[in-house]
Amino acid sequence: MRNPPRIVEFEITLACNLRCIHCYCEAGRRNPFELKTDEIKNLMDDLKKMGTWALDIVGGEPLLRSDIYEVLEYAKSIGLRVMINTNGTLINGGIAERLKEVYPDLMIGVSLDGPDPETNDFVRGSGSFEKAVRGIKILVESGFDPVILNVINKRNWKRFEDMVGLAKSLGVDKIYVDRFIPVGRGVVNRDKLDMSDSEWVETISHVREIIEKHEGDMTFYVEENITGDPCSAGVTHASILANGWVVPCGHFRYNREFYMGNVREKSFSEIWNSFDPSKFFPTPKPCGNCEFLSVCGGGCKAVSYHRYGDVLNVDVPICTLRKRTQDFHLKNWG
Ligand code: SF4
Ligand code: SF4
Repeated sequence: MRNPPRIVEFEITLACNLRCIHCYCEAGRRNPFELKTDEIKNLMDDLKKMGTWALDIVGGEPLLRSDIYEVLEYAKSIGLRVMINTNGTLINGGIAERLKEVYPDLMIGVSLDGPDPETNDFVRGSGSFEKAVRGIKILVESGFDPVILNVINKRNWKRFEDMVGLAKSLGVDKIYVDRFIPVGRGVVNRDKLDMSDSEWVETISHVREIIEKHEGDMTFYVEENITGDPCSAGVTHASILANGWVVPCGHFRYNREFYMGNVREKSFSEIWNSFDPSKFFPTPKPCGNCEFLSVCGGGCKAVSYHRYGDVLNVDVPICTLRKRTQDFHLKNWG
């Protein structure tokens, strides 16, 4: 039996009121094959039983699922730790109150991709900055402790320190940082959001510097594709797509060769326990004799696959930085 995954991401719906240009699942319309309430409850029972640290409910926009409160209430009743990722634009006093009732200590991540309307709305759509900021303020006033979720891209990376400033001004002391990967709508918008390898090296270095500078007064949860720690896909992490397919990381959603199984056919624990990540993600060719292999692993597998065409290639910016700044280490989400 394998160790349970630390965090399981579950895409509760593909419905979304926004059309962000980086969206890896091309959210917009609900998928007719989304898991039903009872299937989600069975899944949560299984995750609790196997000892998963937390379930991360993502979308689309989870608040558009009509049974979201029932799902959260059930998770709370079985003692399953839950976080939810929202675009924040739909949050009002009534929704915050209802969330507080069903799951008082719910961890809520709100996506923002820039510290001002111009930078954020370029990705997330006109008017989304004002609405998301309003949502964050309501959550803080309602006694939640939200996390701002920031995906670094070509247009916003130089504004990362301003994101920290914005978070502080909103009474938020936690930021999750991720890196743009061209999947889904991100493929067609790649020229607007992606960068060359050398630009990514500069960007990741900059983000790390800002994190180190503000680490005392802000908690940063940083994806391995920025920290350079070994990728967690299929090792301590899995994603469940809206229609029940399990993948090692959501960025492999369109690549059937990485599908681990479907929770409609087998329990998640069976799928997880029969999965061998080393078969799906063998050591990249250039890493075989590298002295950093155990602390690096070749970088983000989704970057290797989607930027360089094969998981047997290395994530070049991470490899470059690993060889340059060998002792860099930051805490990951959770
Ligand atoms: S530093 Fe480069 S070669 Fe070494 S393990 Fe990391 S990605 Fe592979
Ligand atoms: S593939 Fe990349 S984004 Fe996915 S878990 Fe690994 S480091 Fe994170």
